[in-house]
Amino acid sequence: MPNSLLPDNTEKITSLAAPKKMAIGWFSFTCCEDSTILFTELLNDHYDEWTKLVEFRHVKALKTNNTLEGLDVAFVEGAISSESQEKEVKEIRANAKYVVAIGACACTGLPSASRNEFTSENISQRIQWYFDNFDYSKNVRKLSDVITVDDKVEGCPMGVVAFIELLKKYLKIYNLI
Ligand code: SF4
Repeated sequence: MPNSLLPDNTEKITSLAAPKKMAIGWFSFTCCEDSTILFTELLNDHYDEWTKLVEFRHVKALKTNNTLEGLDVAFVEGAISSESQEKEVKEIRANAKYVVAIGACACTGLPSASRNEFTSENISQRIQWYFDNFDYSKNVRKLSDVITVDDKVEGCPMGVVAFIELLKKYLKIYNLI
């Protein structure tokens, strides 16, 4: 039964005889992870079809044994809000042939970057506690402020049809469909 959260025009991707699979990673930084939820919802309908073509090499939402090595495409959700996140996303970039920004926070910074607009009057004791106890950088940045981004799927959360079209684009690049 199709999932009611998702549009019904997410047609099936038909496989050629696949010599290898496309190794993907899915990563979340500062965000609400709604696109990750959409991605896992899509798997309810597409897992059998995609798993013939795609290796889920680093997807923490699906498994605990993950590696960054040799990623073909890294999908990155969320904005970058700390030095440790910057280091991590640069490591992902170094391991991935293509990087796709997923959702508005990764593509534009917002809404996660709204704290960049805080004035001192906005910073309550509670908010200050977070600044004092986490390694937040001064500003929240969109992905392309930190690393080179090859593609984007915009939307808050991501546009599902655009995501599937982009997945197909990369499967074609790797001669898998
Ligand atoms: S773009 Fe929207 S849905 Fe995606 S992480 Fe940011 S706030 Fe959440």
